[in-house]
Amino acid sequence: MTCNSQIKKKLPLRSSLSDQLELIVSDCTQCQICVSQCSFLTQYGDPKHIASRYHLGSKEFFKIPFECSLCQLCTAVCPHNVDPKKMFLEMRREAFDQGQSNLPEHRRLRQYEKVGTSKRFSWYALPENCHTIFFPGCALSGTRSEITLQTYSELQKSIPDIGIVLDCCMKPSHDLGDQNNFNLMFNEMKTYLHKHGVKTILTACPNCLQVFTTYGTEFESKTVYEALNLINLPQATDAKNIVALHDPCTARFNQPAQDAVRDLLRHKGVSVEEQPHNRTTTVCCGEGGAVSCVNPILAKSWGQKRIDATQNHHIVSYCAGCTQTLGEKANTSHLLDIYFAKDSALTSQSKIAKPPLTYFKRLRLKKHLQNKLQVAESRERTFHPPTEKARHGAHITARKALILGSLVTISIMFIFKAWI
Ligand code: SF4
Ligand code: SF4
Repeated sequence: MTCNSQIKKKLPLRSSLSDQLELIVSDCTQCQICVSQCSFLTQYGDPKHIASRYHLGSKEFFKIPFECSLCQLCTAVCPHNVDPKKMFLEMRREAFDQGQSNLPEHRRLRQYEKVGTSKRFSWYALPENCHTIFFPGCALSGTRSEITLQTYSELQKSIPDIGIVLDCCMKPSHDLGDQNNFNLMFNEMKTYLHKHGVKTILTACPNCLQVFTTYGTEFESKTVYEALNLINLPQATDAKNIVALHDPCTARFNQPAQDAVRDLLRHKGVSVEEQPHNRTTTVCCGEGGAVSCVNPILAKSWGQKRIDATQNHHIVSYCAGCTQTLGEKANTSHLLDIYFAKDSALTSQSKIAKPPLTYFKRLRLKKHLQNKLQVAESRERTFHPPTEKARHGAHITARKALILGSLVTISIMFIFKAWI
């Protein structure tokens, strides 16, 4: 029996997962190149081996896809254009849809996302004639609220009508396989922005950018680093500092962002020591795919791989999440710390803001913007999709109504017939 027919026989899978499994089984040659780069695959076997054995009902496959960082290093190194991330993401979605992945380990992350999209924390501020918004994302706003403000002011110099949106891009739901929640929330945001004439999104976080470029194709989306790079900065005369640059895995295939970041550092007199794993072959910091929730040892091993390769150079990243994660083990700065001329950013011990301080900083940022900005259109987000329980309740109510309606119709017909 072929592997393909084995897959078809096992379960009535969602078609996208079934397609991904078939694709991996047919295209992966088991050359082991990706396995040699990835600790997760080293533990569970190459993608074809996993796809051939996939069985949702088994306990093993209950957690396996949640240990993949969804980082696409495998995709970058595969000589046969195989994209195992797609398969692992579909496995997560299948597990979620089957009610098997509501893991207690993910509760804190789900709560973080919920807070980000809440009325209290969200704020949309669109000035008159606003076509471009700055979307800083939850991590930058929480760890660097002052720098978020400075970035916005800097962008206003070249784009006077730029708006700002404090909200969550919903990547946690997306990566945890809750595609229904992701779609409802992201589409509501997208519709609002579209309706109010927004055409361009500038993100500080490569995760948010990935979401907008994949699901918000009606917008032109790019990083703020590309926009800042267009602002005429004086070129520094000599490089005073050397840093190890960490490209976030979500920016792996985004060469314009990678180039812009290197340009900005050069302008600031900072020289980049390129890492063996950089640009398309960069490694995950350890936070990708929320692996740290279910397998913290595996997650830490990714971050350690990066730190070990930096030869004690100060690390710089352009993702606030990566900066936070790597900063727990080594001196790490965000690119924007350096951009806003914090000389101390490259010399002092990195300070890591943690909850509840990060939540407080986000609220303070929102308050500050509300007091300062003149906007034509603004809102706090109040939309929330019905919970699973409510959906289930609505389903039961609809079924009851249907049964009641049918009974009434039958009774009327019966009485009518008896009367004739
Ligand atoms: S996406 Fe990253 S963690 Fe997942 S299999 Fe590929 S390289 Fe490994
Ligand atoms: S590199 Fe590509 S072909 Fe080789 S084992 Fe990995 S997915 Fe399969």
